[in-house]
Amino acid sequence: AQIMQADFIKSSVRTQDCPSDGLPEFALVGRSNVGKSSLLNSLVRRKRLALTSKKPGKTQCINHFRINDSWYLVDLPGYGYAAAPQELRIDWEKFTKDYFLNRPTLVSVFLLIDASIPAKKMDLEYASWLGENQIPMTLIFTKCDKRKKRKNGGKRPEEHVNDFQDLIRSFFQTAPPWIMTSSVTNQGRDEILLHMAQLRNY
Ligand code: GDP
Repeated sequence: AQIMQADFIKSSVRTQDCPSDGLPEFALVGRSNVGKSSLLNSLVRRKRLALTSKKPGKTQCINHFRINDSWYLVDLPGYGYAAAPQELRIDWEKFTKDYFLNRPTLVSVFLLIDASIPAKKMDLEYASWLGENQIPMTLIFTKCDKRKKRKNGGKRPEEHVNDFQDLIRSFFQTAPPWIMTSSVTNQGRDEILLHMAQLRNY
């Protein structure tokens, strides 16, 4: 299930501009600063790949990376970036939601949640929206190496993970699969790749 090859293919603004070769794909999404670029880099073991999508103008796009010439990792814009003007935020929402609803090759959305802090309202809103629209989702908890600090609610990552799962349980008929990760220790990397391989074979 390892990644041997990763190629940046394209940045798309609209769903209909995304690659049309029918390969299965997984979308990574989460609040800005959740650790999405770090995770992407940890997955592909290539330090600067995700930076391609961090270039100005690319962050608001749907970025397709083709993996092993057989499936895609899709980097979506981070939500909840405080400095983004309201108008821009609404636009992100529109195009990412359009992508979720109209992309038949999307196998699962990987929603990244920072396990080092209490859940944010926006994370819950995002998860509930996906649940209500029956979009398959995998919860990826990030920064699980971070130890508790009083300002982070004084809880361990495992406790934040449990709290979040309690909160979202009502939105889903079956609880979404979840994986605890760290880009510092590479915890969860093989588990994510294995999970993706299993989902592709369904
Ligand atoms: P993005 O905005 O979601 O792409 O987030 P980044 O990948 O740029 O990471 C945001 C910040 O969190 C950076 O300072 C990272 O060094 C830090 N970070 C990311 N992943 C981890 C992790 O697994 N553990 C720890 N301790 N810090 C992390």
